[in-house]
Amino acid sequence: MSPPRLRLAHLPTPLEPAPRLSEELGVEVWIKRDDATGGPEAGNKIRKLEFLLAEAKALGADTVLTCGGIQSNHARATAVAAARLGLAATLFLRVRDLEDDDDGRGIPLDDRVPWTGNLLLDHLVGADARLIRQVTWKSIDACMQRELEALQEAGRRVYAIPAGGSNALGAWGYVAAMEEVATQLEALPFDRFDAVVHACGSGGTAAGIALGAARHGVAERLVAMAVSDSVDWFESTISTICEEARGRWGLPAPVPWTIDDRAMGPAYAESTPDQRAVMRLAARTAGLVLDPVYSGKAMWGLKLAAAAGDLSGRVLFIHTGGLPGLMAQSDVFAADAAGGSPGAG
Ligand SMILES: *Cc1c(COP(=O)(O)O)cnc(C)c1O
Repeated sequence: MSPPRLRLAHLPTPLEPAPRLSEELGVEVWIKRDDATGGPEAGNKIRKLEFLLAEAKALGADTVLTCGGIQSNHARATAVAAARLGLAATLFLRVRDLEDDDDGRGIPLDDRVPWTGNLLLDHLVGADARLIRQVTWKSIDACMQRELEALQEAGRRVYAIPAGGSNALGAWGYVAAMEEVATQLEALPFDRFDAVVHACGSGGTAAGIALGAARHGVAERLVAMAVSDSVDWFESTISTICEEARGRWGLPAPVPWTIDDRAMGPAYAESTPDQRAVMRLAARTAGLVLDPVYSGKAMWGLKLAAAAGDLSGRVLFIHTGGLPGLMAQSDVFAADAAGGSPGAG
């Protein structure tokens, strides 16, 4: 009934109340600590990779191929897990335009990009990281397909993983996470949450939570805070993943879910001073270290939604991780502390 799975994450992750933060936000918030799913591989992606890499191993793959932004948590988690399993990893990482022509196969990593955060970890575990220019990224699917074929011609057995690990199989990571929450609820004086809130970047986590929350009865609904694409894009992507997963594994209909874009900010990976202020608030009232690309924006969205009366009761916030991405943005926080600067966004 459920697909094969490797045990890669440190589970179960804690489910914790956050009383002082809840008081500030005006809604009762519980935190699912998926920032603690591991060491360097931590965050939400390793849950998806438990299912995706189980399939890769079953198919006899020796190489994984995936893609994402230059500070992709997904690419980093894939690279770390691949090294652990003895697989080679090729990563296509999107950068602001460099001069070179990349032939669609990417520019080898060099010092024109800062080797910080996720990228440093990609390098350390020996991933073949290639820089993909913005113009080339427009046809990333075709590039990935060509790279897959080139690696196969070179004799490799390649398993390709879509951006974010977001497909029907990857979504199982969060169906299983909701089962974990159901078990944790048995020890609590209430039996479900009114809503789940989390940062939404490629849709797989949202699909898994919506399906898993229904299957395991842990929440009434899901509010996914968009940090990148449009509401329309997420609605169609998440619906497609849910339908495929239901068709393949006979899962029940998802709980009602909505995409909320009020916390998107200026652009993907660019945050506002208000968003960073809520990150400082969570850090100082709950010891929760969020990141400025995903979880910090989701917490800001939670605060706005609670203030607007769109969220109430008991809310489960999924802390999806992202610590290396925070470490790559120290300059923005330093600028805030110095009284802000035009570059502080
Ligand atoms: C990838 C990621 C998300 C979003 O998950 P999706 O399944 O891509 O929507 C949220 N938070 C962090 C820290 C992430 O790395």
